[in-house]
Amino acid sequence: MNETQSTCPYCGVGCGVVIEHDGGQITGVRGDPAHPANFGRLCTKGTNLHLTATPVVLQHQRLRDPQRRSARGATPEVIGWEQANREIAERLLAIRAAHGPESIGIYISGQLLTEDYHAFNKLARAVIGTPHIDSNSRLCMSSAVVGYKQSLGADAPPCSYEDIELADCILVSGANPAWAHPILFRRLEAARNDKPGHKLIVVDPRRTETAELADLHLQIRPGTDVALSHGLLHAVIARGWIAADFIAASTAGFDALKALVDAWPPARAAEVCGIREADLWQAAEWFANAPSSLSLYCQGLNQSSAGTAKNTALINLHLATGQIGRPGAGPFSLTGQPNAMGGRESGGMATLLPGHRDPASGEDWAEIAALWGLDAPQDLPGRRGHTAVEMFEAAARGELKALWIACTNPAQSMPDQAVVREALARCELVILQEAFAHTATARYADYLLPAATWGEKDGTVTNSERRISRVRQAVPPAGQARADWRIVQDIAQLIDAGLGRKPRLQARTAEDLWLEHRAATRGRDLDITGLSWATLDADGPQQWPYVDGPTARLYTDGRFATADGRARFVARAYEPTAEATSDERPFALTTGRLRDQWHGMSRSGTVPRLFAHEGRPLVRLNPADAARAALADGQLVRVRSRRGELVLPLKLDGNVAPTGADIAMHWGDEFVGAQGGINAVTQGSFCPDSKQPELKFSAVAIETA
Ligand code: SF4
Repeated sequence: MNETQSTCPYCGVGCGVVIEHDGGQITGVRGDPAHPANFGRLCTKGTNLHLTATPVVLQHQRLRDPQRRSARGATPEVIGWEQANREIAERLLAIRAAHGPESIGIYISGQLLTEDYHAFNKLARAVIGTPHIDSNSRLCMSSAVVGYKQSLGADAPPCSYEDIELADCILVSGANPAWAHPILFRRLEAARNDKPGHKLIVVDPRRTETAELADLHLQIRPGTDVALSHGLLHAVIARGWIAADFIAASTAGFDALKALVDAWPPARAAEVCGIREADLWQAAEWFANAPSSLSLYCQGLNQSSAGTAKNTALINLHLATGQIGRPGAGPFSLTGQPNAMGGRESGGMATLLPGHRDPASGEDWAEIAALWGLDAPQDLPGRRGHTAVEMFEAAARGELKALWIACTNPAQSMPDQAVVREALARCELVILQEAFAHTATARYADYLLPAATWGEKDGTVTNSERRISRVRQAVPPAGQARADWRIVQDIAQLIDAGLGRKPRLQARTAEDLWLEHRAATRGRDLDITGLSWATLDADGPQQWPYVDGPTARLYTDGRFATADGRARFVARAYEPTAEATSDERPFALTTGRLRDQWHGMSRSGTVPRLFAHEGRPLVRLNPADAARAALADGQLVRVRSRRGELVLPLKLDGNVAPTGADIAMHWGDEFVGAQGGINAVTQGSFCPDSKQPELKFSAVAIETA
């Protein structure tokens, strides 16, 4: 038996795995005891990873050959790589010539490796010349990105996982790590056992497994997080629990924020949030006065039309109490996907350029042109492009003629599916680069390009704590599948040849691409110019910035990444959700993860035992609400929003807050009988700053089906 060290491809915890294989077939997987994210532990999804690579899955679930449809709705036919690449390059060149480079959009994934991201970025911006490249990370972490930038000056989570063990008080807000980040939750449980007097506060409209562990559960009304943070800050100021010296030395903007939160006494905040005022005071006291307080947050803050405001309001609390830049203290966003961080670092998004540069800056474009060896920045699109929701809206309007989609399933995962499916149907050309054959998006693809996946490819990923880990190939790819970067490069070179230029992507290996990416970080906040693949192989995963060595914690000297070194208090008013509940649609629907499933189930859905935890889609409702509506446990109900409807079995669940409703995010068409799966009913309204859609709140009616 052979063993290959790699990284789990599911969540942003980024656990190390050891792949057991015979050189041709993966036979087992276990946690890597040497990996500092998990020290050998794996959750249920990770433990069963090898079962997603069995011969049955490889034969029946994997996309194994390049395929082409002669017409939409036709059965795709197998063609060779050479023919597929040539035809795709010709069709992209024709669309580019007829409608301009900006008629082409590229939609990629936080599950791609950093090297793949880099290749796609050059394909979009340097080869095709379109600004429209974005990632499904837009649905995941973009509010955290903008929150960090507005408050601290850079998109850099300041903490480390070891802070979970070091904190005396942990505030979990809009996150359920017990299910979504299980290995971190195990660390949190162990820390509580080891630390007498430890306090855990959980803010969540649902009573989750994480909330069950809490000393204090603030079961707020969905969407009221900013009101809560303002109320907490009011309490902290009123009782004199602020860190006055830190505020004076290291921050700016406190007076404006103080004036804003003056209007949020705890009684008012508690009323808006639907919680007890005494609980709000208690949370403020614990958070401000603990020797070290850490906050862990995720989609409950991010997937919101006020996502950035929710993030900055929480960071305000850290800054006002000085709970940042010390062991066990700081605001710590938990990344959803395995390499959402790498995508941000390599700038494969509409609002980012490589090395955390900004596409709104001409200076930054000039630096990228120089790094990529281009004659002039005029060769590049020079502006921000469409973000995820905007990209599909533009395609639905007919403005984008071609979409190249990789490693993601927007015909299930994007909100407001009617728009997404209209976009896919209307495009002249849809290219899907995928490891799995039967995703909802595959039905719309003119070309299907088989991609290598976990265990079959080389590269790197970055987890939530800025730790770069190697992903290593253990076995050959299924069928004719190829590494994503290689697929991109082959077609990019044909496009460059068609335009009469030298190839702009010419890597021999994934490491070549990583070295190009590394060069773009020089002198930036995420500088990794001191790191190499040889170091990663010799010393294991490392945290950035890495110039002379790794960096566990940021801002320890009280200096932040802003021009003057001071963090900013961001004073943003509390805004209600984009949709409001009403007599016609009285329930606030939220969506979230199950413990044992992942995204649209293309991988985790191939393992029968992962359905044991929950085997079918359900809509959960508080029993008192169901009684008022004369609905009974187990009956079929119709869930209706402004955009669409679903018919699902009803589950009465006292853990759902009154007037709330809850459906797991994973279920697609085939499970719920609605085009677009559960996202037939969700909404595309997004945060004006981060452009992240409000997947956590849709007003719905629920009635007998
Ligand atoms: Fe994989 Fe996340 Fe589970 Fe770790 S916690 S094994 S990264 S799914």
